[in-house]
Amino acid sequence: MVFDAVQQARLSRWNRRLLNGYWGIAVLTVAAASVYVTTSRWNPHYIPAAILSIHTLWMMLGLLVVEAAYVLLKRFQDYVVICGGAALSLNLITTFPQVSPSLTTLFLPILASVFYFQRRKLLFAYGLSLASFFFIHIVVLHEFSSSPWGERIAMTVILTFGTFLGLEIRRRGHDLLQDLKSTLASEQELLVRNILMDKMAKTDALTGLYNHRSFHEYLDELMIHGEQNGLGFHLALLDIDHFKKVNDTYGHQAGDAVLIRVAAVIREMVSPNDFPARYGGEEFAVLCTETGLAELLIQLERMRVRIAGMKHLELDGNPVTISVGIHTFSKGCSKEELFDGADEALYAAKHGGRNRMKVHGKEVMTLTP
Ligand code: GH3
Ligand code: MG
Ligand code: MG
Repeated sequence: MVFDAVQQARLSRWNRRLLNGYWGIAVLTVAAASVYVTTSRWNPHYIPAAILSIHTLWMMLGLLVVEAAYVLLKRFQDYVVICGGAALSLNLITTFPQVSPSLTTLFLPILASVFYFQRRKLLFAYGLSLASFFFIHIVVLHEFSSSPWGERIAMTVILTFGTFLGLEIRRRGHDLLQDLKSTLASEQELLVRNILMDKMAKTDALTGLYNHRSFHEYLDELMIHGEQNGLGFHLALLDIDHFKKVNDTYGHQAGDAVLIRVAAVIREMVSPNDFPARYGGEEFAVLCTETGLAELLIQLERMRVRIAGMKHLELDGNPVTISVGIHTFSKGCSKEELFDGADEALYAAKHGGRNRMKVHGKEVMTLTP
């Protein structure tokens, strides 16, 4: 069953190879016969063998018929290849009726059917080989045999054993495929688990934003990059105002719900290349690399207004506000200086009345009431 689907892949290429193999056998036979005929001329018992004669012609014609059937019966190409093996075998046996090894070619259909890893095709090939043998034995070979029934029984046993081996090969292939599938499945499971664990290690469980650690990892890289290339970026610290009071009044769970909602707005409203993180408690940080300060202020202002306008059912419909402190990194600025600047700006925003933004090092920019 498993092989039914798998074996379809590139099957026509394999069928083609099998047919090419048949042509190879035919050409080899003709070549071997030619050598035999040529060398026999110096043999006193030379009898012009009928090799390069009507039999060769039949063989070539037979293969051409198989090729035509292969093209015309697209849905049954596998069976055409199996039957082609039987036809070639019958031709070889009638060409060399006295040469008993030619009977081994009756394995051709069985061997070809092993390629499909399907029991029904193997059994079909077995039936075909057996029928071909009995047919050719009754019609032609019995003349050359001293013990026809002995030969028939022996050949039946040999073909049956060959088919049994073919079925076992199929079973082994089936087993290997199952093993491969379960190995692949567990590898995939491991990969998914690794990705999940990686995500868990990098994100904050409550809000889904990047966590403190991954924030610092990213910031370290940005600073190295900034020092090397002189590229600036902005650090914005966003802190929920009077959040302790929220917890005290409405409970910790209500506070958590608010944190989740505020984080969702932050994630939604930052630019795709910004790095939003939950820096700690009710404090968030955004690293912004590609936006100019003026544009960033507009973006954060929109965010501030949106958050201030949200009503939280858990807080009896009351909103929460955020204060924001911004500091821009420039070459030579240390990590401490960067944070101190953002903290100072945030502190100024809090002291200025909260629910507002401040930019460090600039004229106090209050875009809010
Ligand atoms: P300010 O306006 O000056 O920022 O005042 P604040 O009350 O927000 O600041 P403060 O630092 O005094 O209090 C922060 C509160 O945030 C205290 C803590 O209980 C709460 N908090 C921190 N982390 C969590 C959390 O994960 N869930 C909840 N529900 N509350 C948290
Ligand atoms: Mg606060
Ligand atoms: Mg705080």
